[in-house]
Amino acid sequence: MNSTPADIPLAYFKGVGATRAQVLASELGLTSAWEALQCYPFRYIDRSRFYKIGELQDSGSDVQIIGRITQMKLVPMKRGKRLVAYLQDDTGTLELVWFRGYKYIQEQLKSGEVYVAFGRLNRYQSQWNMAHPELELKSKFEQQQRSSLQPVYPSTEILGKKGITQRLFRAIQQQAFQQCRAGLKEVLPPNLIVRLQLIGREEAFRHIHFPENADLLAKARFRLKFEEFFFMQLHLLTKNIQHKQRIKGLPFEKVGNYFGDFYQNHLPFELTGAQKRVVKEIRNDLGKPIQMNRLLQGDVGSGKTMVALLSMLLAVDNGFQACLMAPTEILAQQHYKGLTELLEPLGLEIGLLTGSVSKKDRQPLLEGLASGELKLIVGTHALLEKQVEFKQLGLAIIDEQHRFGVAQRSKLWKKNSIPPHILVMTATPIPRTLAMSVYGDLDNSVIDEMPPGRKPVKTEHWFDKNRLKMIQFLKQEIAKGRQAYIVYPLIQESSKMDYKDLMDGYESISRDFPQPQYQISIVHGQMKAEDKEFEMQRFVRGETQIMVATTVIEVGVNVPNASVMVIESAERFGLSQLHQLRGRVGRGADQSYCILMSSYKLSDEAKTRMSTMVNSQDGFQIAEVDLQLRGPGDLLGTQQSGVLQLKIADLVKDNPILKRARSEAFDILKDDPKLEKPEHQLMKRQYQLLYSDKALWGYIS
Ligand code: ADP
Ligand code: MG
Repeated sequence: MNSTPADIPLAYFKGVGATRAQVLASELGLTSAWEALQCYPFRYIDRSRFYKIGELQDSGSDVQIIGRITQMKLVPMKRGKRLVAYLQDDTGTLELVWFRGYKYIQEQLKSGEVYVAFGRLNRYQSQWNMAHPELELKSKFEQQQRSSLQPVYPSTEILGKKGITQRLFRAIQQQAFQQCRAGLKEVLPPNLIVRLQLIGREEAFRHIHFPENADLLAKARFRLKFEEFFFMQLHLLTKNIQHKQRIKGLPFEKVGNYFGDFYQNHLPFELTGAQKRVVKEIRNDLGKPIQMNRLLQGDVGSGKTMVALLSMLLAVDNGFQACLMAPTEILAQQHYKGLTELLEPLGLEIGLLTGSVSKKDRQPLLEGLASGELKLIVGTHALLEKQVEFKQLGLAIIDEQHRFGVAQRSKLWKKNSIPPHILVMTATPIPRTLAMSVYGDLDNSVIDEMPPGRKPVKTEHWFDKNRLKMIQFLKQEIAKGRQAYIVYPLIQESSKMDYKDLMDGYESISRDFPQPQYQISIVHGQMKAEDKEFEMQRFVRGETQIMVATTVIEVGVNVPNASVMVIESAERFGLSQLHQLRGRVGRGADQSYCILMSSYKLSDEAKTRMSTMVNSQDGFQIAEVDLQLRGPGDLLGTQQSGVLQLKIADLVKDNPILKRARSEAFDILKDDPKLEKPEHQLMKRQYQLLYSDKALWGYIS
C-alpha cells in the first residue's frame, strides 16, 4: 500500500521524538498521524470560565485563574526540591507547584506579571494548590484565538512522566489534523448527509479536536458516532445477506406425519401466541434451501423446549436427524426425560449422549446415529466429539447459548456436508441494543409471552440479620408441602473459599432444619456427575424439601413444586444470574417467592441490582439494566466483543444513533445490496477498508 501523510509516524512530530513516540505507542497504541487523530477527547473543559481564588470549591476539578505571580521559592524536600510560586488575585492566594523541570520554569516565570493559570485543583491543609499548571502571560493569552472548549485526552502516569501533557497532546492533534486533512474525504452518500444534516467529515474531525463552539462539537460527535455505527451495521447486514445467498441449506419441504400427529393429537397444552409465531418463523426458514442461523430468545419458563421439539419433528419428517445440545449434564438429562415422554405416543426414539454415558451404552448410540436409524439425540458437548457421526444431520439446536463458545458451535456445522440448520436458544435475554450490534447478522426470534397462569415471583431483599425470619418463612412453606432452594455464590467452580461458604451454609441449614423432619439435598460443582444426579433426583421426586446448591442449578432445572428461592450473598451475583435463578421457581400454579439475602454494606451497583430484581420480572428490562451497569464487554465476554471496539460511539448511551444507523444501512442495502451504484462507491471503499479483514467473522454463530 502507498504510504500517505496520514501514515507518518508520530516520532516525526514536533515535540514528540523517538522516546515519546514509543510511549504513545505502548500506552495508547498510537503510532501514526491517522491513529492519533482517531484518539478522541473523552471530555472537554470549558475555558471561557475564570475562577476567583476565593470561590474555589472542588478539589480535583480543572479551573483557570487569573492572578499575579508574587513570589517564587525553591523548597527542599526529603529527596530533591520543589518550586513553589504564589498566584494572587483580589480574593486570595493559590500555590503553584513544580516537582520536575523547575529550572526552566524558574527562568521563564516573571514575578510581578499577570498570568492565566490552568490546571487541576488540590487542597492541602486548607491551602489551594495546583501542580504543574499550564501558565501563560495574560497579555499573550488574550492575543490567541482559542476555543473555549478545551479537549481532554487520555493520560496515564507514564505519559505524564515523559512530558506528554495535554498541551503537547493538543499540539500533536494539530499536526495530525494537518497531515490527515487531505485524506478526510466524504465517505457517506450525499443524500444521507442531507437527510441527516450531517456535517462534513473533515469538519467533524476538526471540531472534535478543536471545537469552535458547543454546537459544532455536538454536530461533530453525532457525525462521527453515526459513521462508526453505520459501517458496523453495513458490515453486519451485508454478512447476513451474503450468508443467505451463499450458505446452502437443507430444505425441509414438507410438514409430515410426526409434526402433524403431534400438533393435532399430543400437544400437552395449547401453545402461546408467541410460541406459535416463533414456530412459524422457524418453519419458514427451514423450508428454504438456505441454512438457518437463528437465535431464539425467551425468558426462563417461556416454553422454548416445545419449540425445539416441534422443530426437531420437522427434521424427522423430512428424513433428517436432529440434535439438541445442552450445557450441563443435568439439563441434558432433564431434556431427555421430558422429550422421551412427549415422543412416546409418536413411537419416536430419542438418545442421550453425555460424558458419563458408559462405553457400552455409547456404542449403540453412535451406530444408530451413523446409520441414521436413531433420528433424535439430546446431549452435552459430548455430541461434538469426532466419533459422533450423523447420517444426515439436518438441525442442531443449542440450548442456553451463553455457555458455548463460537468454536464449539462451528463443530456442529461440520457434522454434515451441507451444514445443518442451527437454532440457538437462550434464556438470558440479549438487550435489543446488543442484539442489533453483536448479533446483527443472525435472525432473531423472541418468545415474549409466558404460558398462562404463571404468577409473578414475589421478590424481596432482606439483610442477613433477618435470617431467622427467613428460616421461619421456609418452614411455613415446607409445611404447606412446598420445596425450596438455597443458593450460594460460586464464582469459580474450583474456588476453595466458595466451597467453604457452601459447606458452612449447609451445616447451619442442617441445624436449622433437623432430620428426620426435614431432608436436605446438596449439589455443587465438585461432586461427581452421578452424585449430583442422585441428589437432584431426590429433590425432583420430593424426597427432600430443601436443595442447597451452588449455581449449578442455574440452568434449566425444572421442579414445579419448588416455590422458594433463597439466594445467599445475593450481592455477589450478576443480574442475569439472579434472574436465571429466580426463574427456577414460579413454575407451578402456586405463589412463589425469591428472597435475596445480602449483607448490609452494598455498593451502589449492588443496590441497583437488588432493586431491579425486586421491581422487575421482565428479563429484557433486566438485561438492559445489566448492560448499563456492566457495559457490553463484560456482558458478552471476550468472544463477541471484538466487534464492539468502538472509538467514539457507546452502544448503550448512543442507542438512538445506533438504531438510526442500522435502519439507514438497511435501506441502502435493500436498494443496492452489492453497493454497485456510483454514489455508493466511496462508501463501499471505506467499508472494505474497515472490514476487509473481518469479512469471515460470524460465519459460525
Ligand atoms: P424454557 O423456555 O425456560 O426452556 P420450558 O420449555 O422448560 O421453558 O417450559 C417451562 C414449563 O412451561 C414447562 O413445564 C413446560 O411444559 C411449560 N409450558 C411450555 N409452554 C407452555 C404452554 N404454552 N402452556 C402451558 N405450559 C407450557
Ligand atoms: Mg430451557
